Amino acid sequence: MKITLLGTRGMVTPSALHYHKHSGILVSGKLLFDVGEKVFLRHKPKAIFITHLHPDHAFFVEEPVFLSSVPIYAPEQKEFAFIKIAKPVRIGLYRITPLPTEHSARVKSCAYLIEHGKKRILYTGDLVWMQKKYRDQLGKLDCVITEGSFLKEGGMIRKDIKTGKLFGHAGIPNLLRLFKPHTRTVVLAHFGSWFFKDIKQSRALIASLGKKYDVTPIVAHDGMTLTV
Ligand SMILES: [Zn+2]
Ligand SMILES: [Zn+2]
Repeated sequence: MKITLLGTRGMVTPSALHYHKHSGILVSGKLLFDVGEKVFLRHKPKAIFITHLHPDHAFFVEEPVFLSSVPIYAPEQKEFAFIKIAKPVRIGLYRITPLPTEHSARVKSCAYLIEHGKKRILYTGDLVWMQKKYRDQLGKLDCVITEGSFLKEGGMIRKDIKTGKLFGHAGIPNLLRLFKPHTRTVVLAHFGSWFFKDIKQSRALIASLGKKYDVTPIVAHDGMTLTV
C-alpha cells in the first residue's frame, strides 16, 4: 500500500511550509481518508472516508453546498447526504472497517482499519480513546497513523457536563502506549501548536518518546509518502 499524508496540520494557524494543510490520507492514489482541504479532491478518489465531521477533517462542514460525485462514508449522517458507515466496506481489493473512537461530545467519530492482502494499517483521526472491544479487532498492524495535537502526557481531555462523555485529544505518550501492542510503527500527523515552536526540537522529543516506549514514531509532513 502506498500512503500519502496529504495534510499534517491540526486545528492551529499555519506557521510552517510543510505542515500547512489539514488532515487527509490518500491510500494507493484512490481511497481518501478525511478531506480537510478541498484541493485533495484533485486526486479524484474512488471513495472518501471521514473520521468525524470537524472542518479540519471534512472541509465541507463549513461549505454545505458542496456536492460530491464519489461516495462519502462517515460515522453519522447529519444534514449532508453521506453514507453512514457501520460495517466493513469493500472497494476493489481493499477492505475498510470503521472502528468507533472517542474524541468529541458533539460529533461521532471512528478510526479506519484498512486492509489490502496481508497489509493492515489503522488511521485514527483525532482521538481521546478507543474502547478495548474495538482495539481487540486490530490484531497486528503494519502501522498506525494517528494525531500529534499534544506532546504532554494526558493531552487535553475534558468532560461534557451533561453527558459525562470525554472529549479532546490524548497526548502522544498515551497514543504510543495505546497502539504499542498492535504495531512497531506509529506515524504522527495533525500537529498542534507545541510542534511548531521549534520543529527540530519537537522531532527530537518525539524520537525520545519512541525510545522510551519502544516504538518507532514517524513524524509526517504534507505530501510525505510511505509504502507498507
Ligand atoms: Zn476533531
Ligand atoms: Zn482535528
